Amino acid sequence: MNVELITLGTAAGPAIRGTEPGISSAVVVNDDFYLIDFGLGCTRAAAEAGLKGRNFKGGFITHLHSDHVVELPGFLLWNWGKPVEGFTESFPIIGPAKDPHRDGGEQLAGTHDLVANTLSGFAYDIDIRIQDEARPDLHALVQAREIEVPNEPIFEIYQDDNVHVTATLVEHPPVFPAFAFRFDTAAGSIVFSGDTAKSQALVELARGADVLVHEAVNLDFYRERNFSGAFLNHQACSHTSPEDAGDVAAAAGVQHLVLSHLAGVAPAQWWHDEAAKSFTGQISVARSGNRYALSQLSVR
Ligand SMILES: [Zn+2]
Repeated sequence: MNVELITLGTAAGPAIRGTEPGISSAVVVNDDFYLIDFGLGCTRAAAEAGLKGRNFKGGFITHLHSDHVVELPGFLLWNWGKPVEGFTESFPIIGPAKDPHRDGGEQLAGTHDLVANTLSGFAYDIDIRIQDEARPDLHALVQAREIEVPNEPIFEIYQDDNVHVTATLVEHPPVFPAFAFRFDTAAGSIVFSGDTAKSQALVELARGADVLVHEAVNLDFYRERNFSGAFLNHQACSHTSPEDAGDVAAAAGVQHLVLSHLAGVAPAQWWHDEAAKSFTGQISVARSGNRYALSQLSVR
């Protein structure tokens, strides 16, 4: 079994501060693949990585900040049907339900509404292409699934012949729920932090994993540019410094820390060296198109 992580995009957002696409990662198992988050540019990045929609098995959304889901519509519409070597069979899009803690949260979209409203917003195009190009009905292919949060800290959200996916809640206030995901395969395990402050729950989810893909923030970037106190407070309370990401990797005993979803610009060496203060294992600062094979745990 060949299992690979591909970092399709590594930028935080919603902001364009360079050429890097927005946050999105692929887990590839033989020919099949799964996407974790749908940041800006993920559709092109997936195509450039050689991923064909016909091999897409499912999408996983860590939380509903726009920089994690903005290109879900583009990915669905650009990978649909035989004319684009796209999907012709159904697949799940798995993500957060509505936020029960927020005032008026029941009126705001969860994953089900996000998918349904995407499809209804493009109903004209979808209808035409079903009639005109004999594409399958996209409504029947996309199965939105909202994650129910049970009482136990780590819980299963998906399983098929390739992957067993578990999740835990992480700390990304004021967003709720925000999830980290763990993909276990016959060749090893890959964990995605999603967006989170330093999280003990994530340490437990990631325990003994081969690869931990962890977000990181460079607070100095924002401080030096006089971002507002509220903005700085959000960054400090709901994201993780690279040194703390290294702490999480060390506490979990993972083999390889891959830093992605980098908020604030800094040289790759800076991200690496900050994480290396607290983690002695392998550290990578991800870029779009980087591939990490589980058997060798190195970039190629
Ligand atoms: Zn976020």
